Amino acid sequence: MEPELVDLVVVGLGVGGEEVAGQLAKAGLSVVGIERDLVGGECPYWGCVPSKMMIRAANTLAEAHRVHEFAGSARVSPDWAPVAERIRAEATDTWDDQVAVERFVNQGGRFIRGSGRLDGPGRVRVNDQVFQARHGIVLSTGTRPFAPPIDGLADTPYWTNHQAIEVERLPESLLVLGGGAIGLELTQVFARFGVRVTVVEALDRILATEEPESSEVVAAALRADGVDINTGVIADRVDHDGQQFTLRANDVRYTADQLLVVTGRRAHLDELGLDTVGVRADQRFLPVDDRLRVTEGIWAVGDVTGAGAFTHVATYQAGIVVADLLDRVRRSEAGAALDGTGAALDDTVPRADYRALPRVTFTDPEVGGVGLTESQARQQGINVQVGSVPLGSSARGWIHRADGLIKLVADADRGVLVGGTSIGPAGGEVLSGLAVAVHAAVPLAELRDMIYAYPTFYRAISDALRDLG
Ligand SMILES: Cc1cc2nc3c(=O)[nH]c(=O)nc-3n(C[C@H](O)[C@H](O)[C@H](O)COP(=O)(O)OP(=O)(O)OC[C@H]3O[C@@H](n4cnc5c(N)ncnc54)[C@H](O)[C@@H]3O)c2cc1C
Repeated sequence: MEPELVDLVVVGLGVGGEEVAGQLAKAGLSVVGIERDLVGGECPYWGCVPSKMMIRAANTLAEAHRVHEFAGSARVSPDWAPVAERIRAEATDTWDDQVAVERFVNQGGRFIRGSGRLDGPGRVRVNDQVFQARHGIVLSTGTRPFAPPIDGLADTPYWTNHQAIEVERLPESLLVLGGGAIGLELTQVFARFGVRVTVVEALDRILATEEPESSEVVAAALRADGVDINTGVIADRVDHDGQQFTLRANDVRYTADQLLVVTGRRAHLDELGLDTVGVRADQRFLPVDDRLRVTEGIWAVGDVTGAGAFTHVATYQAGIVVADLLDRVRRSEAGAALDGTGAALDDTVPRADYRALPRVTFTDPEVGGVGLTESQARQQGINVQVGSVPLGSSARGWIHRADGLIKLVADADRGVLVGGTSIGPAGGEVLSGLAVAVHAAVPLAELRDMIYAYPTFYRAISDALRDLG
């Protein structure tokens, strides 16, 4: 079959691919966007947006339960129906992407529903069509939930994040396998709606990628919500008897009506035809350079790159790819020289820099983290200084009766912050100041000289700076 010549082919229209494809179509390129499921990907349909709707609902319940502490009394009767309805109607259009498809087409893109696969240099095959991309191919195929190879698990009707987000009637009890950010956010939501939740985590603490203090605060908050947290537990068998799940770890058995498996996600590189362009498919993620180039004429964005499974990473990377591709198009149209890899020789195109990568776990309290944790900084041989204060020691934290913490990780030699954690009712928002400080390497002296509004949560940063010494 004769391939059809186009400017660009984008395989996978999740947050990352949709952004690249839409921007470049709007810029006038002929762009083919291929998506096998829903345009928008995980974030709007089974990820960030609906989970945050659930969290918003669960947190209103928690606040209502605090009325007796501050303001009299209130009777609270949780009801999942409005949450499920809001997710169906407002977040996902009943898991229909027509609006997103139309948005892309209105930007000038050509949409194809199907699974795209590389078919040699510059070529992508989808359904019964083959496209030859004049300027490039972008792989933005994301990840899928990963379930560990535990005996029996694959034969049970366990939930991934998809079923957890789509649920209309809550189970009475839930086992959550995996104590990372996604699992803990959902754990707290369901617990606050009255589900008996048990968390089973193989590592010795939940939220293991964040500071140990973050794990402690979140574990305490979840226990206060009635969650049973079990760490250092290696599950060795899962069974389902038609009614209940049983998870075994050595001699211990955990049972519940439902099992949610949230033990990470995997890119499925073997499906992409990478061998046809000389790229190994037996890797965990697609290796990219700092302009997201995989190899000549191929870029990757989003979760598939392994740079951080966040929507803000996907959109950040998308911006770089758009700039790089537009630069390449401009140069090739001008007949300008290309370098050895065929990529444009332009240093004005930004390079990806993850030093100040922000992460937020939207539990209550929220856990914001940016840059390096203390142990990561020590592993890098940095001359580390640490300052931390409990949020309750700040005026606002005390007034609010809030649990939380500010922790700063500084490079004493350079006199700058290399990492920070803000835990509290608005931990994700308070993080913004720390992210600026890490990103711009603001001198500690400048941070100490600033005026911090009283009585805000973020004012606790000035106390933590004092604790740095
Ligand atoms: C429960 C949950 C909560 C989350 N909350 C947050 C949050 O609060 N903040 C945050 O920043 N991030 C959050 N995330 C992560 C966020 O959803 C991802 O980082 C983001 O969706 C990544 O975008 P992506 O474009 O790389 O991949 P995806 O969104 O996974 O999109 C990839 C797309 O490619 C398609 N595809 C794959 N292979 C092919 C193929 N061969 N041909 C055609 N199409 C293909 C898939 O169908 C999919 O639509 C959350 C994730 C989950 C699961």
